[in-house]
Amino acid sequence: MNLQNPKKFKMLLDQAHETAVNVLRPISRKYDKAEHAYPKELDMLASLLDGMNDGGDGLNAGAAINKRGDHDNSNKNGTNMSTALGIIEMCYGDTGLLLSMPRQGLGNSAIAAVANDEQLERFKGTWAAMAITEPGCGSDSAAIRTTATQDGDEYILNGEKIFVTSGERADSVVVWATLDKKLGRAAIKSFVVPKGTPGMKVERLEHKLGIKASDTAAISFIDCRVPAANLLGNAEIDVAKGFAGVMETFDNTRPLVAAMAVGCAKASLERIKEIFKDELDADYATPYLQSSNLAAQIYRMEAEWEAARLLTIKATWMADNKKPNSREASIAKAKAGRIGNEITLKCVELAASVGYNEDELLEKWARDSKILDIFEGTQQIQQLIIARRELGKSSSELK
Ligand SMILES: Cc1cc2nc3c(=O)[nH]c(=O)nc-3n(C[C@H](O)[C@H](O)[C@H](O)COP(=O)(O)OP(=O)(O)OC[C@H]3O[C@@H](n4cnc5c(N)ncnc54)[C@H](O)[C@@H]3O)c2cc1C
Repeated sequence: MNLQNPKKFKMLLDQAHETAVNVLRPISRKYDKAEHAYPKELDMLASLLDGMNDGGDGLNAGAAINKRGDHDNSNKNGTNMSTALGIIEMCYGDTGLLLSMPRQGLGNSAIAAVANDEQLERFKGTWAAMAITEPGCGSDSAAIRTTATQDGDEYILNGEKIFVTSGERADSVVVWATLDKKLGRAAIKSFVVPKGTPGMKVERLEHKLGIKASDTAAISFIDCRVPAANLLGNAEIDVAKGFAGVMETFDNTRPLVAAMAVGCAKASLERIKEIFKDELDADYATPYLQSSNLAAQIYRMEAEWEAARLLTIKATWMADNKKPNSREASIAKAKAGRIGNEITLKCVELAASVGYNEDELLEKWARDSKILDIFEGTQQIQQLIIARRELGKSSSELK
């Protein structure tokens, strides 16, 4: 077993690390203070990323292009893995800025997961946000009330979406809506709604605890018409398949959110090790039980962090090799989300007044990290999914 990052990604990851340190970190506090201001410095960076991605396995913030389903015997480290590894490095720089990167929205992953070939081509290069959450529907995404009614070769959307990351800035929003409430979760489909479509309106931007650089929008849809060809994937309502279609989105996005948590925690962990470098054994030669309490706490965090990193990479490796990874995606998200929160907050605690002060970024990373254990499914929801998979229970049998 080789636990190192694949050599072929080295150049890409070195570039991502340099970008994190030299571009993102210097503007980190500026956009933490200037909530809702667009980080214009990211435009150039996005073009750079586009160039880097042209060659194949890329460094994306949210868009991985591999699809699962066809099983073969290949064993490769592909785009899902390089994307996650890139995200870890970029979030070492700043999570909110990573989430604000043009053309790298979580909606792009939704498109990658469920779009057909024609749609993949048509929506290439777009910046897509993802809108699932509604005032009456968060964790229970099957409770969606936004409707999509077919009218000739168009669908008419009506409803309200809240907490849409990049909802104001993105070129389009991937909206989850039901074709027929009576048919339950099988009738939920996703639709690409381009920005500026009549009937779609950003109602407000939210003020948040962390990731303040990232815009979070509430969007209303009133008789909003989109071409029928913008329904992602298959329009057929397959009651037997249930939620499987749109849920494939999460198999792509959850490992990426796990990667964000790993990257954000890495920033805190490295900073705390630097602050206490004189009290740590760089060679790990001192037995754990003879280490100081401070050192033992840091070593333990390092071990937990490494476990979260490996689980995240495993989930992406499975995706790259077209292996169904829903369980592993949730395991990675649950572990990385929780450990990310624990590490960033513990680092504030260990550095005490220095950790709590705005002269350092430790307090900001603790705030930024919290959302990574909430969106794309909370800690509790990931545990519920893992339990269902382990016990072979359906969502109605284990709630
Ligand atoms: C900054 C930010 C950005 C976001 N970006 C997006 C986005 O881009 N797109 C999008 O669609 N959504 C987005 N969201 C919404 C996010 O996905 C939801 O907040 C999340 O799914 C939880 O839903 P909720 O807030 O309604 O909480 P609820 O579902 O009401 O949950 C409240 C609490 O109850 C727990 N809980 C709920 N059900 C169960 C259960 N069955 N068993 C045990 N515990 C349970 C939860 O874990 C949680 O702790 C964002 C949210 C925030 C804050």
